[in-house]
Amino acid sequence: MSLKKKGAKPTSVVTGGAGFLGSHLTDYLLAKGHKVVTLDNLVTGSVDNIAHLAGNKNFRFIEQDVTEFLFLDFDVDYLWHFASPASPIDYLDIPIQTLKVGSLGTHKALGLAAHKKAKFLLASTSEIYGDPLVHPQTEEYWGNVNTIGPRGCYDEAKRFAEAITMAYHREHKVDTKIVRIFNTYGPRMRLNDGRVVPAFVSQALKNKPLTVFGEGKQTRSFCYCADLIEGIYRLMMSSTNLPVNIGNPSELTVLDFAHEIIKATGSKSKVVYRPLPQDDPRQRKPDISRAKKILKWEPKVGLGEGLIKTIEYFRGKV
Ligand code: UDP
Repeated sequence: MSLKKKGAKPTSVVTGGAGFLGSHLTDYLLAKGHKVVTLDNLVTGSVDNIAHLAGNKNFRFIEQDVTEFLFLDFDVDYLWHFASPASPIDYLDIPIQTLKVGSLGTHKALGLAAHKKAKFLLASTSEIYGDPLVHPQTEEYWGNVNTIGPRGCYDEAKRFAEAITMAYHREHKVDTKIVRIFNTYGPRMRLNDGRVVPAFVSQALKNKPLTVFGEGKQTRSFCYCADLIEGIYRLMMSSTNLPVNIGNPSELTVLDFAHEIIKATGSKSKVVYRPLPQDDPRQRKPDISRAKKILKWEPKVGLGEGLIKTIEYFRGKV
């Protein structure tokens, strides 16, 4: 931690701060009294997500690819490493950038944290569990990943990111945290990022058929973004260096989810079936016992409530 005048605001750096989760984290940190510097190369992030912060004297945006050398001429207290594509269609479009940001980008971000003596938090993912053979997924589970499949670039980059984070913790004594983020939704998701929430909501709002992949029997558990950010903040402020799952354990099938969206939007849409993408995990649900115990955290926003806010956002976009 840098030497600071008593009462001075802590400084947070958020990589990927113009993205969906990075921008919500930025808002949260500003509300908590941090100065926030956002780094983003805008490959999947957007200035629209941070435009409302223009003119805020505690906020600064630097357009920067975090796989390049990072130089910042100010003290940093917290480094939140969120930069990464996060949608299966991005992994297909830009697999090399996905691998580079998870590996080289995490290396640079850790190097910066070590140099600044900042606390470091890695945004990892439930994808490190791959197509899980253990259900629900506990942090002890090592995963079942196809290294050479279409999602391998993301899954393996994040697995490498976890490994190098622990190496910096053990060798350089960086105070590191790892959050494994499960499916999260809310305002500021990219309309065309192909993930199930923007896809179904925009299809429903246009009264077009909802494209259910496979038979829709695969399961997911959806966490509202505000719940997730609260859990992640608690993790950074905690003393644990172990990975922690943050997500909503309320599990449902993709087909049931499609019907929930049709109901919540009041849409006339029907469901159509499309081929299941390769290596699509068949089931996913976080075991959040560790978060409950260590962080005293659990999600508060139910699917109905979260969908109302999300649908409101997408109504203005479609
Ligand atoms: N999915 C779907 N239709 C779509 C988009 C996604 O049925 O138009 C399914 C997808 O096959 C997966 C689930 O919804 O089983 C969640 O997909 P998403 O891309 O949101 O994230 P994932 O959890 O697979 O990383």
